[in-house]
Amino acid sequence: MGRRRARQEKRMMRGRNMNSIEENALSPRKEISGLPVYNAGISATVAQRVSGREDVVLLASNENPYGASPAVTAALGALVPSRYSDSSCSVLRDTLSQQLGATPDRIVCGNGSEELIAALCRAYLHKGDAVLTISPCFGLHEIEPLAAGAQVIKVPMTKAFDFDIDALVLELSRRPKIVFISSPSNPVGNAMSQPDLERVLDAVQPGTLFVLDEAYFELIDPGSPDGLKVLGQRPGLSWVVLRTFSKAYGLAGLRVGYGIASDDGIARAMRAAVTPFNVNAAAQAAAIAALLDDAWMKDATARIRRDRSVLAERLRRLGVGVVPSQANFLFIELSIEAGPVARALLDKGIVVKPWMEAGYANFIRVTIGTAGDNERFVQELGRALGLS
Ligand SMILES: *Cc1c(COP(=O)(O)O)cnc(C)c1O
Repeated sequence: MGRRRARQEKRMMRGRNMNSIEENALSPRKEISGLPVYNAGISATVAQRVSGREDVVLLASNENPYGASPAVTAALGALVPSRYSDSSCSVLRDTLSQQLGATPDRIVCGNGSEELIAALCRAYLHKGDAVLTISPCFGLHEIEPLAAGAQVIKVPMTKAFDFDIDALVLELSRRPKIVFISSPSNPVGNAMSQPDLERVLDAVQPGTLFVLDEAYFELIDPGSPDGLKVLGQRPGLSWVVLRTFSKAYGLAGLRVGYGIASDDGIARAMRAAVTPFNVNAAAQAAAIAALLDDAWMKDATARIRRDRSVLAERLRRLGVGVVPSQANFLFIELSIEAGPVARALLDKGIVVKPWMEAGYANFIRVTIGTAGDNERFVQELGRALGLS
């Protein structure tokens, strides 16, 4: 190639690159680039690095401090990693079907129930659709609809941290495409009473999908409703109940949750909106083993509930506000901004979640740990607040 030709070609290449930057710059959809970041808790490794301590206590992500059933360990030991997982999760769905009394065709398993929140948005939302949720809310009830291009309407809880049923009823009359409600609420911890739930359901219009996220179902008080049973009495409604193995069953690291839909059409749409092998083989084997050892889960949740009352009482005596909770965490109100307090606790090796949502800057959500974890948290919180 002649020298002049080479120079010419170089110029052309440069020109093309310039054009491509101006005209075809690679950028994500604006719904994605503008998305709020999910406020995930930090891992033990990161907490150890930041605090310089070995003995960190993780109280930010509502995990089970007692681990999982020994049956899970045995099931994982027998795993064959070289084979693809069962893409239809057939054994897990059959096992759930027997426990829940819903046919397997209405049950969908996900890579955590968070994947099913995303799947519902992907399956049902058009750009500009309205999605209704509560504030304060579980981050993904807002993030996933926004990612799908929807607008999110949040009904704040009342000052006393009750669900604002009147306001929800009014918003439901405007026919949002999807409603996401977590009960017990994450981050508040309170559960919707049966009369309140019935009033909300009375207001759901045709064309609205009602999603009840029961991630903490296994921890609720005996008097609180089983959403699946209540919704089962509503043949005309379109609904999904979401549950998970991450909290009461102690499998957060394996990522497995499930949804029960009012009909197999909704279940089919959810399945079409996830990847074919979304739930890996370890997660399926562990979830089946965990379900079959219900006694382990009941024992762990009973301990957590007991320690929850002890911790709530200790905190009240310390003088901080505690919202009554039916989940494995407490939402506590400080008299000062929560961020610096959480940072001071992290320096002591204790990880909690300062609530980032607008209007809740003085709140911390703390997971119920072992009795020892909880005591360490109270001591250090008292010190950080200058109260003890
Ligand atoms: C923890 C949680 C989830 C997500 O659970 P995974 O199954 O781990 O994805 C969903 N909804 C709420 C309200 C939660 O608190």
